[in-house]
Amino acid sequence: VKGLSKVFDVSAPWLNRVVEGKPRQFVHAVDGVSFEIERGKTLALVGESGCGKSTVARLLVGLYGPTAGEVRFDGEDTAAVLKSPRARALRKRMQMIFQDPYASLNPRWRVRDIVGEPLREHGLISDAGGIEDKVADLLQSVGLAAADVQKFPHQFSGGQRQRISIARALATQPEFLVCDEPTSALDVSVQAQVLNIMKDLQRERGLTYLFISHNLAVVRHVADEVGVMYLGRLVEQAPKRQLFEAPRHPYTRMLLDAIPDIQMTGRARTPVQGEVPNPLNPPTGCAFHPRCPHANARCSSERPELRTIGGIRVSCHAVEEGRL
Ligand code: SF4
Ligand code: MG
Repeated sequence: VKGLSKVFDVSAPWLNRVVEGKPRQFVHAVDGVSFEIERGKTLALVGESGCGKSTVARLLVGLYGPTAGEVRFDGEDTAAVLKSPRARALRKRMQMIFQDPYASLNPRWRVRDIVGEPLREHGLISDAGGIEDKVADLLQSVGLAAADVQKFPHQFSGGQRQRISIARALATQPEFLVCDEPTSALDVSVQAQVLNIMKDLQRERGLTYLFISHNLAVVRHVADEVGVMYLGRLVEQAPKRQLFEAPRHPYTRMLLDAIPDIQMTGRARTPVQGEVPNPLNPPTGCAFHPRCPHANARCSSERPELRTIGGIRVSCHAVEEGRL
């Protein structure tokens, strides 16, 4: 992913919000984000809601087209491939899992048809009997029973429904899965089960994940590499261990301090301070400066670049100046 940006026009002419003589309003939901994900690994993107991580997810699977920058998959520019006759072949290799397993499964369809749909769509199956066998295999790979093919979504718990979503995502034998808050709608006790299934599937199938979450405790469980986003930009990226043990960016520190007793250090939890600014009117300089305990005059006027410092990527003047 290189220099990826997505700008939304939120003047919303269909809501009559475009007023004569008033400037149109744009939101830079994703603003010049670059990263790589190694095959077979998991990059987690974290940040509070509104930081642009879901937009990155949708850009990566081609649900949105980028305003600028590019996404390369296996060396190829996905935007170009998705406009070519090879679009379907590429889509087969990348799938997405969404947050809400209630909303993403059609309540009127049997599991056979929900999980079988991508098989049919991609011409991976010829007869109806074949679909049932394949769907049963997929269900078993996520810990459900072959007999579940005949059931409807309402006959399952939340965790089981998310397993159905995962089975559906696996139907085309993808290599890359984009998972947008896949366990956030689930009870804590069920989250770990689903995360473990995802980890097992990754190991068995060599899957590559982009894992989106606002929850660092979840990220800790699944990530190899962690990227922290703030107001459309990547502010820190580091291998998981390094990020959790020696966070550099003040925003990463704030998020980590909000996790209760993360390393059994007994230190008190400090709730996240302040709020994400209005993206229509982002702060000057470092976008985090109104909330940052280390901000100085330079921070409010000059935007820090994302630089590699000590093997990690971080964008912060204080870190660069060696005062943090
Ligand atoms: Fe804080 Fe300044 Fe670093 Fe931004 S650049 S995170 S305001 S110290
Ligand atoms: Mg989101």
